[in-house]
Amino acid sequence: MAPILYIVIPCYNEEAVLPITAPQFLEKLRQLTAAGKIAEESRVLFVNDGSRDRTWEIISELAASDEHYLGISQSRNRGHQNAVLAGLMEAKDCCDITISIDCDGQDDINAMDAMVDEYLSGSEVVYGVRDNRDTDTAFKRATAQGFYKVLAAMGAEVVYNHADYRLISARVLQEFAKFEEVNLFLRGMVPLVGFKSSSVYYKRAERLAGESHYPLRKMLALAIDGITSLSVKPLHLITTFGVFVAFLSFVGVLWALIAQLTGHTVAGWASTTCIVCFVSGVQLICLGILGEYIGKIYMEVKRRPRYIISERTWEE
Ligand code: UDP
Ligand code: MG
Repeated sequence: MAPILYIVIPCYNEEAVLPITAPQFLEKLRQLTAAGKIAEESRVLFVNDGSRDRTWEIISELAASDEHYLGISQSRNRGHQNAVLAGLMEAKDCCDITISIDCDGQDDINAMDAMVDEYLSGSEVVYGVRDNRDTDTAFKRATAQGFYKVLAAMGAEVVYNHADYRLISARVLQEFAKFEEVNLFLRGMVPLVGFKSSSVYYKRAERLAGESHYPLRKMLALAIDGITSLSVKPLHLITTFGVFVAFLSFVGVLWALIAQLTGHTVAGWASTTCIVCFVSGVQLICLGILGEYIGKIYMEVKRRPRYIISERTWEE
């Protein structure tokens, strides 16, 4: 039997682009259904992430116009990752497979055919991977690629150039639901669940309308979140660095002692100042990194709900 597919789409202040892309998603659903790859009960599920513009009104209108559109609304803006998670958790009990994709038309919806094919031939997770970044600005390209490299160097397992366009089966989502952490970095967490996975390559286009919500500031925050919620390597680095600095200090002390004993001492204001500055700098960096983890522990022990659905376009 053909699987039921839910396309999960996070939307934050997307009134400009939603009317353009929503019909495209529906058309894709129709094509896949006509080709017999997915079941007629498949749906397009929008997740409104506390938008301040007309996004939720548009989603409600879409849902009223065609039963294939569904919408849920988060009670406030919680960020892209939480919105995707809300949609996936909502979908997992009513479908066999989900595909998460942004609503701005940047990710090629035609890659969905290949994703479903991969699922039908046994993959439980299929990553959408961009094979070029020609449409991104040179700056975005450089920062984004640096982002993946730093993540990999820090020991967070991520698929290179894969964002949040991916197929996940309901079976994997049932397991994923057991990951209770609140610091979400989905593209690093999904590989942790395991199961057979594969990749599908596509060209990334330009945003069809509206503006990006991921300026450099948010990308940096996402990178730091990704590293500190997936890897304890920075903690190990502190230890290594600490040992190195301790060794240097030992050599320094030896040198000072020998200088003292051989009577070559000068009033060393400069060197003392340098050492004090250096050591306090190092300490501050280390404290900062420790703080990152303590902040995470603090958030985790609260066990707050990771998303709250306030409305649905259907009755429960
Ligand atoms: N998004 C969201 N909540 C946010 C920010 C963004 O749900 O707080 C959604 C947004 O509507 C879009 C997707 O996440 O569907 C990716 O955002 P965007 O296209 O702005 O990022 P970029 O592609 O520029 O990295
Ligand atoms: Mg985008």
